[in-house]
Amino acid sequence: MTSAATRQRLVRRLADEGIRDPRVLAAIGEVPRHRFVDEALSSRAYEDSALPIGRGQTISQPFVVALMTEAVLSAVRPSRVLEIGTGSGYQAAVLAQVADRVFTTERIGELLRTARQRFHELGLHNILTRHVDGLAGWPGQAPFDAIVVTAGGEIPSALFAQLADGGVLVGPEQHGAHQELIRVTRSGDDFEREQLGAVTFVPLRQGLE
Ligand code: SAH
Repeated sequence: MTSAATRQRLVRRLADEGIRDPRVLAAIGEVPRHRFVDEALSSRAYEDSALPIGRGQTISQPFVVALMTEAVLSAVRPSRVLEIGTGSGYQAAVLAQVADRVFTTERIGELLRTARQRFHELGLHNILTRHVDGLAGWPGQAPFDAIVVTAGGEIPSALFAQLADGGVLVGPEQHGAHQELIRVTRSGDDFEREQLGAVTFVPLRQGLE
């Protein structure tokens, strides 16, 4: 139930649902999602659904992870990617297959410790982690070719300022009770905004736990 064959079924399903980029499909085929959830849930790891990871948070649905990864690959191949909301570490592990380095931030220390352990066990050495409130981004490592926000809310302007020229930011923006996945592409001082569809993420919160 956690084999490479099961994972390939998920890859085919995502392709059927419209994920086209072969780099994204290969990355989903590569990363063992069952290692990013509790053992009790591992038999459900290759369903296309979000699952609880503790502390009221969730590992994102594979389709959404694939969609966001595809969206950041729309420009040039990103060398440096910043993620806000490490959670289980799954999205970071997928990004680590398609970028040179991933910088990921999480505000809940307990979740970050577990994610770090997974990166270590899986030999994902191109992921750097930080226990911080990601609303401020990671100024010391900016600029980034891509920024992926994996919790919903008002996307802080500090993040847009840390985008490299030509870089893209993808994340869920809160509009009343609804969230919309947006992609913002920077060209100089211009920020072009596109809407990619309705999504549901846990909320962005302030401060550390
Ligand atoms: N990318 C994750 C999704 C986890 S859910 C995965 O693949 O599993 C979103 C995560 O964002 C949660 O773990 C939550 O604690 C975290 N989060 C929310 N607000 C944050 C903030 N301001 N800074 C950093 N992380 C935040």
